[in-house]
Amino acid sequence: MTGHDLLPPEAPLPWLTGIWSRLRGSREADRVAHGLLVSGPSGVGKRHLVELYARSLLCHTRGVDGMACGRCSDCSLLAAGSHPDLIRVGPDPESRSGEIPIGAIRNLSQRESLTPSRAQWKVAIIDPADRLNPAAANALLKTLEEPAGQTLLCLVGERLGQLPATIRSRCQQIKIPVPGESEALEWLKEQGTAGDLVLRLRLAHGAPLRARCELDETLLEQRRERLDGFLAVAAGSGDPVREAAAWNQLGAPSMLDWLAGWLCDILRLMITAEPARLDNPDRRADFARLARAIEPAAGHRFLQRILEARALAETNLNQLLQLESLAIEWSRIGRGITIRDPDA
Ligand SMILES: [Zn+2]
Repeated sequence: MTGHDLLPPEAPLPWLTGIWSRLRGSREADRVAHGLLVSGPSGVGKRHLVELYARSLLCHTRGVDGMACGRCSDCSLLAAGSHPDLIRVGPDPESRSGEIPIGAIRNLSQRESLTPSRAQWKVAIIDPADRLNPAAANALLKTLEEPAGQTLLCLVGERLGQLPATIRSRCQQIKIPVPGESEALEWLKEQGTAGDLVLRLRLAHGAPLRARCELDETLLEQRRERLDGFLAVAAGSGDPVREAAAWNQLGAPSMLDWLAGWLCDILRLMITAEPARLDNPDRRADFARLARAIEPAAGHRFLQRILEARALAETNLNQLLQLESLAIEWSRIGRGITIRDPDA
């Protein structure tokens, strides 16, 4: 569970109303899929939607809008987190691998645990489903092949393309895209989000829930410091190994997301001085200077290395070494700058 889920699931998010009416329509037509696969980038409302849907299936006095009533005994159990027909499956917090092990899926698929005990439906939320290990995925496939009566398995995650095709093909797939910028800004305003909303939204790669929750002042300050460090390493005045230690403290996944965003902006500025879009509009001048100085091929290679490191960041046990090697490469690219940059 992340901070995004603090939003009460009372109504669909504005950019998800279309998807919500389709889900509601299939329930009213008695065509609820046994497997639902909800994917999309972080912070677009996947879990909010799944939560809303699960609650509406378990409430026994749904409103005319298809939403859970919020008052019946089922809704009270849901609010207390103790409804027997809602099962949550995730990685074992004790395990270092962060995987969902086969035992978790076996427990789930025992017949009795899949028969509703009080509601009309039994709902299992498997989150993040991309962490199912191969054995667990196999066990889940068996459950999907022989669905018990009124059971819904909801698979949620950011990288569900990694799941076996056999699982994906047995689920109804819902891909949640990043909403349009104006719709997202409108919503952030309604939520009373403070600060430069355009900047916040761009830093969150357009994901409104991330823009609202994750980017508090501390994080924005950390971003400022790391950007200064990044520029100092490129200019030769910052020590790459010390900078990598600071990256590591922030956590490799977030840091690599930032680095990828910075490099993308620099590469955009190599093509045109006025790109249609920048993820870091507040650093246009610094990035434009780098864009003029860096050799394009080196910039593209560096972005590629960041993305490769990002793909492994959740499981790589030696983050610091990886980050140090990236920071040193960046300082080398930067040394090219001091020779090539007419402004330096
Ligand atoms: Zn209810």
